Amino acid sequence: MTEMKFPSRLVGGRWGDGEGEPLVVTDPSTGEKAAEYAASTPSQVAAAVGGAAEAYAEWSGATPGERAAVLVRLAAELESVADDLAAAETRQTGKPIRLTTRFDVPGSIDNVAFFAGAARHLEGRAAGEYSADHTSSIRREPLGVVGSIAPWNYPLQMAVWKVLPAIAAGNTIVLKPAENTPVTASMLAEAAERAGLPDGVLNIVNGPGALTGEALVADPRLAMTSFTGSTEVGRRVAAVAARNGTRLHLELGGKAPFVVFDDADLEAAVHGAVAASLVNTGQDCTAATRAYVHESLFEAFTAGVADLMRTVRLGPPADSATDLGPLVSFRQRDRVAAMVDAAVAEGARAVTGGRAPGGELSRGAYYEPTLLVGASQGSAIVQQEVFGPVLAALPFRTDEEAFALANDTAFGLAASAWTRDVYRAQTAARVLQAGTVWINDHIPIISEMPHGGRKASGYGKDMSAYTFEEYTQVKHVMAELTAEPRKAWHRTVFTGGGHAER
Ligand code: NAD
Repeated sequence: MTEMKFPSRLVGGRWGDGEGEPLVVTDPSTGEKAAEYAASTPSQVAAAVGGAAEAYAEWSGATPGERAAVLVRLAAELESVADDLAAAETRQTGKPIRLTTRFDVPGSIDNVAFFAGAARHLEGRAAGEYSADHTSSIRREPLGVVGSIAPWNYPLQMAVWKVLPAIAAGNTIVLKPAENTPVTASMLAEAAERAGLPDGVLNIVNGPGALTGEALVADPRLAMTSFTGSTEVGRRVAAVAARNGTRLHLELGGKAPFVVFDDADLEAAVHGAVAASLVNTGQDCTAATRAYVHESLFEAFTAGVADLMRTVRLGPPADSATDLGPLVSFRQRDRVAAMVDAAVAEGARAVTGGRAPGGELSRGAYYEPTLLVGASQGSAIVQQEVFGPVLAALPFRTDEEAFALANDTAFGLAASAWTRDVYRAQTAARVLQAGTVWINDHIPIISEMPHGGRKASGYGKDMSAYTFEEYTQVKHVMAELTAEPRKAWHRTVFTGGGHAER
């Protein structure tokens, strides 16, 4: 197949390539080169921040309606290249084309459309007199230049989640996509250019995290750093940002529990578990990773999940009949395999899967859908992010035990409870320590609702109007009402000058 061509760097409206080391984008389904580019150097990153800073005054001064008009056109531009976006996303990540055409691309476009509307609803609270002599009002203002770092698991969606709320609120931004999946973020920026986004509002740099990413995070001109990625790198980013005291938004790893109570609809739970653990080949921060199943349903649940997993068709990502593509890279596949092997060595058993497939598929970074039983709660496979098509199932006896096990990891991004009992469902919604709790489902997200974690999964929200809490700041304006030059409160400082005693 021919290599994809894309411009890897956009600074102040000028496209180009980096001047640093050459980097290869690999198609993980074949191991073949899909694209090549040069990393942006630290001085190129500095120029991108400069480009964003230059564009800030004009963009932040645009009316919400003017900003929204550009974003409405951006949604239409993306729609017009939806097939190209899906093909490029599939090529650089190995996602099945059915997933990119039905989820990644339309989900991204919907998010753009949402922020086009939300941009016009930014407001402070109504003014009021909280002191008898003053009217207080709240102004909601953008921050300045935002530096954003995105991961590889949903490259287009993550770029949209980072860029849209930032620019809708009047900020300008420098985005660094993951080094192995840079193509669709540049396509987003090209569409933004066609939509009339002014030069410098969106800037792109590409390159390795430790070099290009860290140069961005360390830039003292950033008003905010917004990071989505692993907990480990997020903590590094937080440490670098802390040197400048830069405001932070961290969307980090997850280890979502999937709790099946004894009154659950077993068929729904089985289908839900397979879909939620295998979506995006398990490379989803909210994927179901730990199924806690009431002991009375455990055998039937694990048998049902294993049977359904065996029907999942691994294959070439561009084939619309393919259910499951490869992992994003051979490195990621080997990491998943090593974690499963270690779990098995510690006493877990693979009911199905537990290995990379042979034959034609061995050219790619494939791994079979895997159900593990017999892992202990404290083991790495239950406690740490695997980010692969792997579900561990563990039995429980009481509701209290189920909730305790579900909450017993460092993470707190997402969780689900499967029950037909309204009281149990309400308890689960209250007790589960996660940014999202699903009842009788697991995975769906929606632009109007917030996404974000707690505990080691980070803080702050993506999507929805809540994300404006990250990308804006409020200012209190207190206007004096009496026009009296000598105010009573001055007497707390000086008593001369004939101040009124009020
Ligand atoms: P990663 O942490 O390895 O990399 C994320 C980004 O950080 C990449 O762009 C990388 O180049 C950059 N980076 C690496 N080192 C850096 C440094 N020192 N300074 C600045 N930037 C640096 O994550 P990944 O492997 O690309 O993505 C998978 C991870 O992302 C998983 O942990 C997953 O749970 C998480 N994730 C979380 C959410 C969420 O909403 N919470 C969404 C998607 C992915």
